[in-house]
Amino acid sequence: MSNLSNSEGTPLSAEPGTCFELLDAREALVGENLTIRRALPLKGRRMVGPWCFLDHFGPADFKEREHGMWVGQHPHIGLQTVTWLLDGEVLHRDSLGTEQVILPGSLNIMTSGRGISHTEESPQDHTGRLHGVQLWVALPDAARNMAPTFEHHSDLPVYGEGAVQMTLVTGSAGGHASPATTYSPMMSGDIQIGAKGTHTIELDAAFEHGILLLEGDASIEGTPLAIGKFAYLEPGRRGVEIRTVGPARLFIVGGVPFDEQILLWWNFVGRTPEEIEKALGDWKTDEDRFGQVRGFEGQRLVAPELPRLSPPGRR
Ligand code: MN
Repeated sequence: MSNLSNSEGTPLSAEPGTCFELLDAREALVGENLTIRRALPLKGRRMVGPWCFLDHFGPADFKEREHGMWVGQHPHIGLQTVTWLLDGEVLHRDSLGTEQVILPGSLNIMTSGRGISHTEESPQDHTGRLHGVQLWVALPDAARNMAPTFEHHSDLPVYGEGAVQMTLVTGSAGGHASPATTYSPMMSGDIQIGAKGTHTIELDAAFEHGILLLEGDASIEGTPLAIGKFAYLEPGRRGVEIRTVGPARLFIVGGVPFDEQILLWWNFVGRTPEEIEKALGDWKTDEDRFGQVRGFEGQRLVAPELPRLSPPGRR
C-alpha cells in the first residue's frame, strides 16, 4: 500500500520504492489569456529525473478572442522543450528557420543547446480550442552547449493492453523507444484510459516518476487525483496502479534522478549565476547567439528583472 503525504508533499515514509507524494500544481497566467497549472518546479519538488518544468494548459476556448496562444520571440539555453497537445493546434517558429504546426498525437521537441529563440501562436485558422502540456528537460553538462536543433515526430510508439493505451512521447519505457533525440535516461508518455477499471502501468525501477491527471478521474495507488494534482513516485517501483471510474487521461514523466545541480531562471537552465547573466545580456543586446525568428507579427519578450542569483544548492 502507498503512503499518503500531507499537503506540503512531505512523505510519511521514506522507504525506497514505496514513497508516494501528492503535490499541488500552482496556477499561473501565460501571455494574455492562457491559464496554466505548473506541476514543476514546485517548492517541494524541483525536478523529476531531467524534467525541470511541466505546464498543463487548457482546456481553453479562444473563439471570442483575436489570438489564442500568442507567445512572442524568447530565448532558451540548456534545455529541451517538449510540446504535446490533446486538442487544438500550435504554430512553432524558431531561429533555425523552422515553421511547424503541431497537432494532437505529434511531438515538437526543440533542443536549445547553447542558444535558440522561438515563438508559439495559434495558427490563423485555429479551432479555438487548446489543451496540452509543455515540458522542459534539463540538458546534462555534456550536451548543454551543443548547437540548437528541432525535431517534429508524428510516428511515436503506441502500446497497451485492454482499456489502457500509452503513447511514448520521449525516451524509453516498456521495451519501446521514442524516435525523439534525448540526452539522459528518461521517459514521458500520454496514458489514455478508455474505461472503468484497475490498470497497472509498468515502470522502470531506476527512474523516479511524476504523474499528472489531464482529464477525467483517477486514483493512483488508492489515492484520488484531481486536475492540478501531481503524484511523485520514488525510484524502485516496477509498476503503479491506476484506478478509474471512467475514461481518463494522464501524463507521466520519469528519469534517473538528475545528478547535476541546475540553476533555472526565466527561460534559461544554467549552472552558475554568471552564465545566466551572460545569456540575459546576449538576449538584451540582440547578440547572434539567439538568432532571429521570421514571420511572427508580435514583439520580442522582455526578460523580467534579474534577481541576485545564488549558485545552485545554496538557495
Ligand atoms: Mn519557449
